[in-house]
Amino acid sequence: MEGKRGILYVVATPIGNLGDLTERARKVLTDVDLIAAEDTRETRHLLAHCGINTRLIAYHDHNESKAAARLIESLESGLNLALVSDAGTPLISDPGYELVATARARGLAVVPIPGANAAICALCAAGLPSDRFLFLGFPPRTSAQRRAWFAPLAREQATLILYESGRRAIETLTDLAAILGQDRRVVVARELTKRFETFLSGSADALAQRMATDAEQQLGELVILVEGNRSPQTADEAEQGRVLRVLAAELPLRQAAGLAAQLTGARKNDLYRLGLELGLGAKRSGLL
Ligand code: SAM
Repeated sequence: MEGKRGILYVVATPIGNLGDLTERARKVLTDVDLIAAEDTRETRHLLAHCGINTRLIAYHDHNESKAAARLIESLESGLNLALVSDAGTPLISDPGYELVATARARGLAVVPIPGANAAICALCAAGLPSDRFLFLGFPPRTSAQRRAWFAPLAREQATLILYESGRRAIETLTDLAAILGQDRRVVVARELTKRFETFLSGSADALAQRMATDAEQQLGELVILVEGNRSPQTADEAEQGRVLRVLAAELPLRQAAGLAAQLTGARKNDLYRLGLELGLGAKRSGLL
């Protein structure tokens, strides 16, 4: 007869305020046989604060495949495991996907222990529409890549949620303004649940300027939230998009935009921008 198999608990930990560790998380971290942690030193602080002595093992991006295979063996041999990341909910811009996917594929029990998550924490207090949202994780690090990454999001009606470090926030806000425009409400939620928690709101350019003149606003971790596109496409724009798609399938975007301008009467620059938003330009034109 097959022996008992272990359970994988996916445990959320605080994003700054240790008081946000739930009772249930504390009990699971105490009771499991092993805790798989993104950074064992970080997690050791949390465990020491709670008086928990459970054994720790490293599970991070660099060893994910190997560590996942070993942890699956442990689960199959009957050990109960908790997966944690440095802060917040594992798998959300953090390691763990491979472990959870493999555990599920093997029919092992995976139990979520919910708690803090920076994206949801920011969204619930930002004052932007929360009925529909799109979590995007971290944007790319170079400006050209970021602009190409924003372009297909221009029509998105859901609130956009991005993770970013304080150091790169100004550049990201500047690219965001260039591609998504100036008429959207943007919120920067910084140092959530910590002593200097701050919510700033305004246009992307205004926020970039505010952060440039107040260096304190560049410190720490932050979430950027962007109001979705509130002006549905007009019939004209839909037609321009259709013409542009046909031409851009055969021509570089700049040329396609020129011809589409002659055919539709719209301005070439507007069509070029529309092409970028539709994701028609990135490969051929090398962008902007
Ligand atoms: N797994 C985490 C979660 O559930 O939110 C996210 C981990 S990701 C590697 C780290 C990013 O989350 C930071 O760069 C920042 O964008 C965001 N973040 C984490 N803690 C935060 C906080 N206290 N305030 C604002 N943003 C935070």
